[in-house]
Amino acid sequence: MALIREKDSKRLHIKSKLMGESLVGKSFISSLEYGEQFRALPDVNVLKIGGQSITDMGAKAVLPVLEEIVANAGKHKMILSTGGGTRSRHVYAIALELGMPTGIISTLGQSVSEQNALMISTLLMPHGGIKVGHDDIPKLSAYFSQGCIPVIHGMPPYGYWEHLPIEGRLPPNRTDVGAYLLAEVIGARRCIFVKDEDGLFTDNPKVKTKAKFIPKIGAQELIDRNLDDLIVERTVVEMILRSHSVQEIQIINGLKPGNISKALEGEHVGTIIYKDV
Ligand code: ADP
Ligand code: MG
Repeated sequence: MALIREKDSKRLHIKSKLMGESLVGKSFISSLEYGEQFRALPDVNVLKIGGQSITDMGAKAVLPVLEEIVANAGKHKMILSTGGGTRSRHVYAIALELGMPTGIISTLGQSVSEQNALMISTLLMPHGGIKVGHDDIPKLSAYFSQGCIPVIHGMPPYGYWEHLPIEGRLPPNRTDVGAYLLAEVIGARRCIFVKDEDGLFTDNPKVKTKAKFIPKIGAQELIDRNLDDLIVERTVVEMILRSHSVQEIQIINGLKPGNISKALEGEHVGTIIYKDV
C-alpha cells in the first residue's frame, strides 16, 4: 500500500480502499469486494455440549456422550464448547431480581460455562482433553497436531459489553451463539449442537407432546414462522443468515447412542438449519 503525503498539510496517508471512509456508508460497504473468507481449520468440527440438556443430567448423559466423542477422536477433529445450564439459570434469576444489567448477567453466565468446561476437560484428560480459553484459538492447530481434544467455555466473551436484548435484560448471546461464532471464525467443517431432543420441533416437545419434528429448515423460513420456543438461541438463527463459512448447523439428540458419530460422518440426523437467503 502506497504512502501519500498531503501537499498542504504534509499529513501522511496510507492509500487504501478504506482511506477517509466512515465505514458505515451503505453504498460504500456494498461496493467492497470481499472475496472468499479464509478458513483456518476447515476439517475441525465444533460440538456444543448442552449445559441444561447434557451436562446437568450428570454421569448418565455425560459419560456416554464423551465415550462417543473419544471413539471418534482418531477420525474427526473436534473442539467441544460447553453450555451453562441450570446453574446459569439460577444465577440469572437472582441477578434479575437484584436488578443487574445485561453485562453483569452475561459475565455471571460466562463463569458457569467455564465450570462445565473444567469438568468436561478433566473427564477427557486421559484422552487428550485440554481446557482452552478464548485467547487460545490461534493455538488450536498445535493442539490438534498433538491429538488433543480442546474444550472451550461456550459463553461468547462480550461480558460487560453484552449486546442489549430487544426485550428484557437476559443476554441474547449465550453459549449456542458462542459455539456458532467459534465455528465461523475458524471456518469449521460443521457446527453440531448436542442436546436432549431429536432436533427442532414446532414447539417445545417437553411441554407440547403434539409438536411436530422439523428435519430441515431455512433460517429465514424459521424466523418467518415465528415459533414460540426454539431448541437453539434465536441469535444463532439470525447469524446463519449472515454466515460466510458455516452456512448450516445441526442439532442432534446426544442421548441416543450413534447420533454424534452419524453427524460427524455428515449424515442427516436431527435437524439442519441452513442459510436460505
Ligand atoms: P442447552 O442446555 O443445550 O443450551 P436448552 O435446554 O437451552 O439446551 O435447550 C434445549 C431444550 O429446548 C430442549 O430440551 C427442549 O425442551 C427445548 N425446546 C424449546 N423449544 C423447542 C423446540 N421448538 N423444539 C425442540 N426443543 C425445544
Ligand atoms: Mg440453551
